[in-house]
Amino acid sequence: MKTIAVYPGSFDPITNGHLDIIERGVKMFDELIVLVAFNPKKPALFTVTERQEMIHGVITSQLGAEGGRIRVDSYSGLLINYAQDNNAGIILRGLRAVSDFEYEFQMALMNRKMSREVETVFLMTGYKWFYTASNMIKEAASFGGSVSGLVPESVEKELLKKYAEKREDVCL
Ligand code: ADP
Repeated sequence: MKTIAVYPGSFDPITNGHLDIIERGVKMFDELIVLVAFNPKKPALFTVTERQEMIHGVITSQLGAEGGRIRVDSYSGLLINYAQDNNAGIILRGLRAVSDFEYEFQMALMNRKMSREVETVFLMTGYKWFYTASNMIKEAASFGGSVSGLVPESVEKELLKKYAEKREDVCL
């Protein structure tokens, strides 16, 4: 039986921290689904389609042959239903600072309560990405700060483009 893992998140946008989890995760499982999940609590900068395209582009350009075992998808329902419908026995999550822990712990327990067939597996962040979070990146980029080295180059370009468009909208 193939081990299929699903790595859900907002990925608004994908960062080098996410990419680190994806690169390490794909080595552990036969198939990895990077799932752009709709989160009503987090207003998004990029549309779901834009986020999926950015992830796809980064995987294709940076991951080589292993990228062939990664699928990018989106979903707006209950994660555990998606996992079950796609025969995924693993939910993959990344852990940064202690601040991530409580939320991740609650979510893992809630998912476990809903299904004992699906296990949550955590990978500790690579030390370089400890403070890398999409929100901080968006905040810095929105004020013209450089986010180079924290996100893939293609994503940095998309961020610059998006904020330039936003500034144009305000000026019109
Ligand atoms: P963010 O919190 O940056 O908005 P997401 O909601 O997209 O990110 O997070 C998806 C998953 O990726 C979560 O498990 C989150 O803890 C993890 N993650 C996010 N950033 C990093 C990082 N820098 N290192 C490791 N894991 C991360």
